[in-house]
Amino acid sequence: MSEYPHLLSPLDLGHVTLKNRVLMGSMHTGLEETRDWNRVAEFYAARARGGVGLMVTGGMAPNREGGVFPGAAGLFTPEDIANHRIVTNRVHEAGGLIAMQILHAGRYAYGKECVSASAIKSPISPFTPKELDEEGIEKQISDIVTAAARAREAGYDGVEIMGSEGYFLNQFLVTHTNKRTDRWGGSYENRMRLPIEVVRRARAAVGSDFIIIYRLSMIDLVPGGSTHAEVVQLAQEIERAGASILNTGIGWHEARIPTIATSVPRAGFAWVTKKLMGKVGIPVITSNRINTPEVGEAVLADGAADMVSMARPFLADAEFVNKAAAGRSATIAPCIACNQACLDHTFSGKLTSCLVNPRACHETELVIAPATASKRIAVVGAGPAGLSAAITAAGRGHQVTLFDRATELGGQLNMAKVIPGKEEFRGLVDWFAVMVEEAGVDLRLGQEVTADDLDGFDTVIIATGVIPRDPAIPGQDGPNVVSYIDVLRGGAEVGRRVAVVGAGGIGFDVSEFLVHEGISPTEDIALWRAEWGVGDPAEVRGGLAEQGPQPEPPARKVTLLQRKAEAPGKRLGKTTGWIHRAALKMKGVEMIGGVNYERIDAEGLHVSFGAARERPTLIEADTIVLCAGQLSERSLADALEARGITAHVIGGADLAAELDAKRAIDQGTRLAATL
Ligand code: FAD
Ligand code: NAP
Ligand code: SF4
Repeated sequence: MSEYPHLLSPLDLGHVTLKNRVLMGSMHTGLEETRDWNRVAEFYAARARGGVGLMVTGGMAPNREGGVFPGAAGLFTPEDIANHRIVTNRVHEAGGLIAMQILHAGRYAYGKECVSASAIKSPISPFTPKELDEEGIEKQISDIVTAAARAREAGYDGVEIMGSEGYFLNQFLVTHTNKRTDRWGGSYENRMRLPIEVVRRARAAVGSDFIIIYRLSMIDLVPGGSTHAEVVQLAQEIERAGASILNTGIGWHEARIPTIATSVPRAGFAWVTKKLMGKVGIPVITSNRINTPEVGEAVLADGAADMVSMARPFLADAEFVNKAAAGRSATIAPCIACNQACLDHTFSGKLTSCLVNPRACHETELVIAPATASKRIAVVGAGPAGLSAAITAAGRGHQVTLFDRATELGGQLNMAKVIPGKEEFRGLVDWFAVMVEEAGVDLRLGQEVTADDLDGFDTVIIATGVIPRDPAIPGQDGPNVVSYIDVLRGGAEVGRRVAVVGAGGIGFDVSEFLVHEGISPTEDIALWRAEWGVGDPAEVRGGLAEQGPQPEPPARKVTLLQRKAEAPGKRLGKTTGWIHRAALKMKGVEMIGGVNYERIDAEGLHVSFGAARERPTLIEADTIVLCAGQLSERSLADALEARGITAHVIGGADLAAELDAKRAIDQGTRLAATL
């Protein structure tokens, strides 16, 4: 009997049976826009081989005005259809099923031609949409229906009609964005008309033996959003109109509540989908922050849905389902929900990848083949750079010895994992430990390596990481000054009033650590909902709690400082920086930019402002925590160089500036693929 009886049970849709209850949710990867169809096909085929029940592509535009950005991919020409057939054929050969998502962005489309129910600009777009007239609405319906018919022609097994996340169809549903007085606006019956018409006509166009998934926003998280009663009414109408499956959408893109970031509890919105269970006759999929087979199984066993959608976990590991089915779930590379290489890339116009798995979307370019000759390789440093190099090299057949002076592997990831809201890093460290063993790496912990220890190896890789930068503030030798390492690893005593020097990623994380005590909201859904003000859509419109966010009182009074005269946190992750800033603001953290650090004494930290060192100010603090960035730890690399020994230097040891685990893992993996 499988460990995951619910997750791995088939789902009969009438004309087709899905082999399990796992959907790979839609992700915009940017691959289609490369027009390298072999690459696109390989991305999906790898996931099909990995055993997933059904996949949904990234959103395809039904027309130019509805594309998320200018030039967004879609099925516009016979050539497009032929290209997509390359993908669907490859997926079918691999034993998979694939549906194409049709995504009309409405007022979220990045372009002057964007259209919507009413001419109301979204807070996250510079463009005011054109209000559609009757003819314009008919054109949009017809374009979406044509896209569905073309998807069938291109060999897809179905389509997903994107009706959530605040996109076009969603914009008609709520009065916040729909001020119309014709048959497409006003009453809820009128506002629902567009999605229902789209599904009804799409079904008529594609026939009965084709999957239609409708992605329905079950909690809008915006003012004036739908109530649960409206969600149920819409779901029932969409079923009547011919949908085969309902998928869950959580929150509009403009919502000020995190919905998929790492600090959102696992399966933190499954309760929303559960409210719809039993009210429709077609299968219902739940989504958001489901990232392990255990979580997926628990959600299904709880009756919260008929199927689970996971998207980013399939970037982290294409073999997710096969590994779960084989009882090898500990070897599944975990999605830590960081967004660093996926959504942050998408929103920066870069091709998607994955922090944990640099091969994601690079399957045809980063090929890890068996080595032609087995070498003896020493890797010094078991942080993410060294770990990735070690497991990749060993996986290729090399004999790898991995050293670390610490008594646990993971390097700085062991500090990341203690930050409230970053618990997912624990899973990443655990996965590395499993993979080191699987790959047969000879792990030597608790061993400080010197140049003398590295004789006799064919290849040496130095991954010794970083050392904290010394900010050289007068008085920093005092007893009230500690470094982030003392706090996160050494358990240093920290007083009630704290000044944090440096507002980079680590300064923000340390502040988060210091304002929390007790259980992390990320591990307690009720606490997390209260913190962000997530109410029940059966009680409050859109699921926005009437009293707003109610965070626990801060454990300490923290002041976060930086020298740059810009808003602190401006350079944090593109899609997650706002969450870190908002979370600290809610905890009363004062953020001050543009300071000069003058001195530290028993009263606290003395600062001034501007080139003329004006406005001398005392930041009263019991403890000052230094988070002033990092420098490469190159002592071993330099010692080897002095002996004329050539070593490969990776990760922080190579370049500390703007180093993160994404770059460390990518560099380690890529190097090891070439040895
Ligand atoms: P390290 O992780 O520093 O590992 C180097 C290893 O080398 C250490 O284990 C050390 O003990 C060992 N070593 C050094 N010298 C020797 C020697 N002579 N002999 C034996 N062993 C030696 N990055 C992200 O991408 N996302 C995040 O959200 C994130 N959050 C973070 C939060 C915190 C609090 C911290 C501190 C870091 C965070 N980072 C994050 C940064 C990320 O952890 C680092 O970029 C990454 O760990 C660097 O990897 P590395 O392998 O180069 O070095
Ligand atoms: P960082 O992001 O480079 O920030 C260093 C901070 O120290 C800055 O605020 C900088 O601002 C300040 N600083 C630099 N030199 C200083 C000096 N001489 N004196 C006083 N202050 C100084 O580095 P980090 O915070 O140490 O993080 C290290 C790496 O880990 C980063 O590259 C980051 O990508 C990664 N990380 C990522 C995350 C994440 O969530 N993605 C989280 C944590 C860490 P001023 O120069 O303006 O004072
Ligand atoms: Fe998950 Fe981060 Fe990889 Fe994106 S980059 S898939 S969030 S681990």
